[in-house]
Amino acid sequence: MARLVGLAMMALLVAAPARAQIDPRGALLERTGWDAITAGQGAAAAKAFREALAADPKNARLHLGAGLAATLERRDEDAKDEFERALVLDAKLTRARALLGEVLYRLGDLSEAIRTYETLTADSPEDRDAQATLERWRREADLHDRMQRAIGSHFTVSFEGPAEAELAAQALESLDRAYWRIGPLLGVYPSDPIPVVLYTSEQFRDITRSPSWAAGAYDGTIRVPMRGALDKGTELDRVLAHEFTHALIRTLASRNVPTWLNEGLATALETGDLDWAQQQIREAGAAAPLRALQSGFGRFTGDQAKVAYATSAIVVRRMLDEAGGVAVANLLRDLGEGADFNSAFLHRMQRSFEEFW
Ligand SMILES: [Zn+2]
Repeated sequence: MARLVGLAMMALLVAAPARAQIDPRGALLERTGWDAITAGQGAAAAKAFREALAADPKNARLHLGAGLAATLERRDEDAKDEFERALVLDAKLTRARALLGEVLYRLGDLSEAIRTYETLTADSPEDRDAQATLERWRREADLHDRMQRAIGSHFTVSFEGPAEAELAAQALESLDRAYWRIGPLLGVYPSDPIPVVLYTSEQFRDITRSPSWAAGAYDGTIRVPMRGALDKGTELDRVLAHEFTHALIRTLASRNVPTWLNEGLATALETGDLDWAQQQIREAGAAAPLRALQSGFGRFTGDQAKVAYATSAIVVRRMLDEAGGVAVANLLRDLGEGADFNSAFLHRMQRSFEEFW
């Protein structure tokens, strides 16, 4: 028996290099693809895996790589297709199943995401993170099942009980005001109703896992913790306008948008008044360097976040003042289509970014 195992091992050891000899180019492409994933370079990874798959279309690992590349580029539908393909070829590729669940969740298909994680946790009972994610999603599904909905022409607002019905009606009115204020400014009018969910603070932290300073979140659904917003109508307007702007930005560009531009536009269009932002930067001594504001702000402490939002808002306010909302919207469209930031900026703002800021 030991000998047989030994022989089987030998066969495996021999098989790997033999395969590489048959297709060294494929092995090299795959290596390039994984290196690009590690470096966060979605486009380069997508290209490498696409070429590798052309020669070896039934390789589950290559489909996993192609899916990860698509995830990095925020092409969630493509990522879903690739992870599903990987799992058809190799049902035990648990990494693909974990990523498929995440992408389904991002696409708003909570029930399918839950089903995927039920299979994942049955296959890998030792995976505590997957178990915790599954439980969180189940709590979200239970909560959403319990919720009622207020339907407007551009938004649907979900809320938990009759006590929140009045607030939901106020939220709908506030969202409609934001729609007719910000839509014309950017020249964007989403046709499909945007889902909005009102949470308690605890539900909000649990479901979005946002930092404690966050007043709202947008991930395809506008999610807002209502406590506190209740007593102050202006705060409700501010938070909903901010998250609605994120929804507009998503319709213009689902990817490639630097965080300072995304958050800056949402913050600049909250109320229009940016005196607080100037004040914030004066107090901090300096604006935040934009290169530190390219990706998510979730890692910042409350004070760092304030300067990050203030800086972003002031930069985007200047863009709006100089070139107008439609030019900023066109810049976002170009970025979403994969354009290089500096060239797109020069084209739409009529001067180089370096000269601008
Ligand atoms: Zn935001």
